[in-house]
Amino acid sequence: MAREIKALRDLLTELEKLPAIGRKSAQRIAFHLLKQPHQKVIRLAETLVAVTEKIVPCQTCFNLSETGMCSVCSDPDRESIICVVEDIGDIMAIERTDEFRGRYHVLGGVISPLDGIGPENLHIRELIGRVDSEGIRELIIATNFTIEGEATAMYLARLLKQSDVKVFRLAYGLPVGSSLEYADEATMAKALEGRKEIF
Ligand code: ZN
Repeated sequence: MAREIKALRDLLTELEKLPAIGRKSAQRIAFHLLKQPHQKVIRLAETLVAVTEKIVPCQTCFNLSETGMCSVCSDPDRESIICVVEDIGDIMAIERTDEFRGRYHVLGGVISPLDGIGPENLHIRELIGRVDSEGIRELIIATNFTIEGEATAMYLARLLKQSDVKVFRLAYGLPVGSSLEYADEATMAKALEGRKEIF
């Protein structure tokens, strides 16, 4: 019935495109919004617009930023170690541990030939550039423990084999096939602490 009303159908269609939102959740959110005071919904809409307009990727590491330089890259006390992650959510997970004092580099995904994603589609060229220009001595590859995450870690390790940088992989301990983003702090801290050098 809800889908007979165009405005509502459009909202449901957009909500269902969001991660983890199925048909039922979309309806729940839509009906919740319809019950809210107009001003409250306007504020939500304005916040969504502001997020897309004001947040830009960090030009160095592709983390979130408001100025083109993220809070990690602009912190002079951060060490010359780069933790390479798939997505921004993984940075949040590692930062929550309070264990890591290095920098980050967001690949923007993993190598996945089946999805048509090759190394050239990720921020790998920029990573290699940083290793050279920032005098990086250690790299920790923290891609997820999935087939694609492992393959990407090996690809990066081979690519950097000839360079002076030491390449580490997070220790296992995180469930195979799992996303770092949802790891609890203790598990993540252990995975960082127990990192193993590749090769
Ligand atoms: Zn940055």
